[in-house]
Amino acid sequence: INKLNIAFKSGESLFEAIKDIDIRLNEGEIIGLVGESGSGKSVTSLAIMRLLEKSANVSGEVLLKDIDLLAISEKEMQAYRGNEIAMIFQEPMTSLNPVMKCGAQITESIVLHLRLNKQQAKEKTIRLFEEVKLPEPNEVFNKYPHQLSGGQKQRVMIAMALACNPKILIADEPTTALDVTVQKSILELLKRIRTERNMSMIFISHDLGVIAEIADEILVMYKGEIVEQGAVKDIFNHPAHPYTKGLLACRP
Ligand code: ATP
Ligand code: MG
Repeated sequence: INKLNIAFKSGESLFEAIKDIDIRLNEGEIIGLVGESGSGKSVTSLAIMRLLEKSANVSGEVLLKDIDLLAISEKEMQAYRGNEIAMIFQEPMTSLNPVMKCGAQITESIVLHLRLNKQQAKEKTIRLFEEVKLPEPNEVFNKYPHQLSGGQKQRVMIAMALACNPKILIADEPTTALDVTVQKSILELLKRIRTERNMSMIFISHDLGVIAEIADEILVMYKGEIVEQGAVKDIFNHPAHPYTKGLLACRP
C-alpha cells in the first residue's frame, strides 16, 4: 500500500480519515494493525477490499504484485475479492445472511467463483467446515446462522473467507466479540490456517496481547496515521510513540 489517503465529505468540510499511509505485506507474513477506536483500521481494510462507498475520497495505490487494485474495474475487482484477498469482519452478521442456511451461503460463492457443480461445492464446504473445526459439519451445513454460537458463527465466516483459496486474509477484530477461551481457539485456528495454507494476513485488533500472539510485525495507527512499526518484540521492549507506551502501560 503506497500513500493511501481516505477522506469523507461531511457537509462542506472534508474529514481525512487516513493520511498518507504505507504498508508492506510480504508473502506468508502476518501484520498486526493496532490503534484506538476511530484510528482508521477498518476504513483501511475496507479501502483495500474496495468496499467503501463511492463518495469516499480514496487515493494512493494498493498494489497486489503489479496490479493496482484501486485502478481496475469493478468487475475485475470482484474476481480479486475472495480469490486473492478475503476479509473477515468483526461482526459475523455483516457477511452472513440471517435467512440463508450456512452451507448454502458458502456453496453459492463456490459455484459462482470456482465453477464447481453443486455436489462438488457441497463437498468442498463440508471440508472447509472440518478445516475450521466446526463440530458436526453436516449439521452446521443445514443450520441458520442464529442457531450457532458466536464462536461457531465466526468459524463459518472463516470457512467462507477461505472458500475460494485466497492468498491474503484481512481479519478485522475477528475475536473481539468473543469470550476469552473462544478467542484463544479462534486465534489458534487462524495460526494453523496461516501455516497450512501459507497465507499472508493483516490482523486488526486493539488488543496488543492478541496481536503479540499471532503477528510477526506490528503497525500502530493513531488518528489516521501509522505512528510506529516494527517487530513485535521491539515494539514491546522499546515503544516510541506515546500512544503505544500508554497501551503497553495498561496491560495487566
Ligand atoms: P474501531 O476500533 O472502533 O473499530 P477503527 O480504527 O476501525 O475503530 P474506523 O472505522 O476505521 O476506525 O474509522 C476511522 C474514522 O473514520 C472514524 O473517525 C470514523 O468515524 C470515520 N468513518 C468511518 N467510516 C466512515 C464513513 N463511511 N463515512 C464517514 N466517516 C467514516
Ligand atoms: Mg474497526
